[in-house]
Amino acid sequence: PEAPHEYYEIKTHKSQPNTDYLPDGRVNAAFVTLVRNEDLHDMLLSIERLENRFNKRYHYPWVFLNDKEFTEEFKTAIRAAVSGGAEFGFVEPKYWSIPSHIDQDKMHASWRDMEKNNIIYGGSESYRHMCRFESGFFYRHPLVSQYEYYWRVEPSVDFYCDIDFDPFVYMKENEKLYAFTISLHEYAETVTTLWDVTKAFVAEHPTAIHPNNTLEFISDDNGQSYNMCHFWSNFEIASVNFWTSEPYASYFEYLDRMGGFFYERWGDAPVHSIAAALFMDRKHLHFFNEIGYYHPGITHCPIEDEFRSKCSCRPSDTIDFNGYSCNKHWYEVMNIPFPQNYELYLK
Ligand code: GDP
Ligand code: MN
Repeated sequence: PEAPHEYYEIKTHKSQPNTDYLPDGRVNAAFVTLVRNEDLHDMLLSIERLENRFNKRYHYPWVFLNDKEFTEEFKTAIRAAVSGGAEFGFVEPKYWSIPSHIDQDKMHASWRDMEKNNIIYGGSESYRHMCRFESGFFYRHPLVSQYEYYWRVEPSVDFYCDIDFDPFVYMKENEKLYAFTISLHEYAETVTTLWDVTKAFVAEHPTAIHPNNTLEFISDDNGQSYNMCHFWSNFEIASVNFWTSEPYASYFEYLDRMGGFFYERWGDAPVHSIAAALFMDRKHLHFFNEIGYYHPGITHCPIEDEFRSKCSCRPSDTIDFNGYSCNKHWYEVMNIPFPQNYELYLK
């Protein structure tokens, strides 16, 4: 399909973030949260927990984005809760609407089918805008593009371990570009054609594939099919620049033109993960085992004994060695030894 003019407009934001360490040794980085006004209380919970475990010592700033204007109540309560300052940004309608090239009859028929099949968020329009925004637009927002690294945070998440080091500094010092705490298998019905579309993109852009990629993590048959493994993107510490530059910029545009954010329900998690696995040198990927993390439904708790004095989570609650997780596969692919006693946590 032909690219409608919206894309060229969207593409013009070019960021020049400061990539030096700050005078105090921190990194030019921020927390980034997409959130609704009505999620204020759930957001305050996440802030309180992350401030307590980490940010009260580091005072990184926090960027909040919303497709509606933030209320004064929201901004006042948030400003009082964060220790590093807060910025509030508006997501313009052109980043939160159905593009003109989408066939809306086809789209609505598919939403009805997905709803009938009880696919989570199958009939939701706003969820699709969210996934598309988190895939292709958040990093172009001027409040975000000024930073070298970001840490994505959602409402109602929890952090179980004292983070007594600076993960942003860790990322920068170790040339990491994408870090996660939880990996899972995606619902196949939400990404029916994502892999075929990805293969078509790669056929047109063969140099996009990094020679030292992590294809094995996302495919069990050398690229024929997608094994549904993805990093759970509600937690993400990553480089802004990876998304703004090639090949990701072209990849997102290609995906968007194919329409799967609307005809299917492509999540930003598989999109980010496929890109990170294919386009990055694997040395830039990182698993933050020491960051105990909870997002409603799922826990990552580091099981090693050394963490018991730092973390309040129960090792038996960890998803890591359960069949839903892709962590065992991650350890294998990256040649990382399994933690001692992991067999106790196979579920
Ligand atoms: P789930 O984790 O996949 O169940 O999805 P969530 O409901 O947690 O949404 C993911 C992120 O997008 C969270 O940070 C939400 O606060 C945010 N979000 C989801 N839908 C909307 C929306 O319609 N407007 C805004 N402003 N934020 C949204
Ligand atoms: Mn969520």
